[in-house]
Amino acid sequence: MTRMREFGTTVFAEMTRLAVETGSINLGQGFPDTDGPERMLERAVEAVRGGWNQYPPGPGLPELRRAVAEHRARWYGLEYDPETEVLVTVGATEAITAAILALCEPGDEVIVFEPYYDSYAAAIALAGAVRRPVTLRPDAGRFTFDPDELAAAAGPRTRAILVNSPHNPTGTVFTREELETIARICRDRDLIAITDEVYEHLTFDGVEHVPLATLPGMRERTVMISSAGKTFSVTGWKTGWVCAPAPLVGAVQTVKQFLTFTASAPWQLAVAYALREEMDWVAAQRAALEAKRDRLMAGLKSVGFEVFTPAGTYFIQTDIRPLGFADGHELALRLPELAGVVAIPTQVFYDDPSRGRHYLRFAFCKKDEVIDEAVRRLQRLA
Ligand SMILES: *Cc1c(COP(=O)(O)O)cnc(C)c1O
Repeated sequence: MTRMREFGTTVFAEMTRLAVETGSINLGQGFPDTDGPERMLERAVEAVRGGWNQYPPGPGLPELRRAVAEHRARWYGLEYDPETEVLVTVGATEAITAAILALCEPGDEVIVFEPYYDSYAAAIALAGAVRRPVTLRPDAGRFTFDPDELAAAAGPRTRAILVNSPHNPTGTVFTREELETIARICRDRDLIAITDEVYEHLTFDGVEHVPLATLPGMRERTVMISSAGKTFSVTGWKTGWVCAPAPLVGAVQTVKQFLTFTASAPWQLAVAYALREEMDWVAAQRAALEAKRDRLMAGLKSVGFEVFTPAGTYFIQTDIRPLGFADGHELALRLPELAGVVAIPTQVFYDDPSRGRHYLRFAFCKKDEVIDEAVRRLQRLA
């Protein structure tokens, strides 16, 4: 149908298939190659064996809703009522799609920072809404936006702004000042903020993740979204959640109940346990990821890429021009044959691909020996 015509197979599926077919090292799709905390995995097994195998309540198991609310209070000082202000979803992806479908009328505009996570564009299209990109550009070694461009993007039809920080694929973690700029526009123009915070615990160099909902006047207009996949290295569990004022959560749940009705029960119990008991594991994982980031950054620099230091996420954004290449999509398709490695061409995450034509994204959430072997192979480009 017309609304979805521009969306084929996602680039992640395409590149992972290419990696499998060519036997390449997959630094494309961002999934870890090690498991999450052992006790959490045991909890999931116990839940399956213990009979937690029928439909849980639509909004999610009370156990997980309470654990999410406690986590928000403990980490950010944000109070959410687990009965009315927390909704469990099938990953952050469903939460984002349900939020956009629930809150946007056809023709409404949604501001997105580009490069954007690809499901945003599809969700906006499904709602019959219109995306208004604001481009993140390198400035002093990190990607950021021009406040004037953001202000100009907000017009009479703007309904919502989608904010992803820590940001995939650039690795930017918005500063308090940048978030203040976004918050001011939301308050002045009466916009809803939909925040994708799936990398909330994966920040580096002491950089702090600040949820937009903690800024003055923002809790009441923010749909705060996160999930277990990245925090606990279980991207296959697809267990996420929405925290927002009751009327907003109610609207999202109305849509969610007809997308999936509810999310799988065993994972919910295991994630509730992990949010309460495994945050030390997450701290150790964060430190390990920072070392992996440094390892892959050093390797990519030695090959000749221009490398942008990510302050968070699983990803390093690179500029391919110093190596004599111009088009990231062309290079990504040739990379298996040239070097036996797969990466993601960032240009597919822009409305106008020419704006991101020379970038390639590499994932570093992989075993050290995998990173080292990928770098060894990439030396063939130098
Ligand atoms: C991985 C990712 C998601 C998807 O999260 P799920 O919980 O697996 O649905 C959403 N947004 C961003 C930016 C991501 O990188």
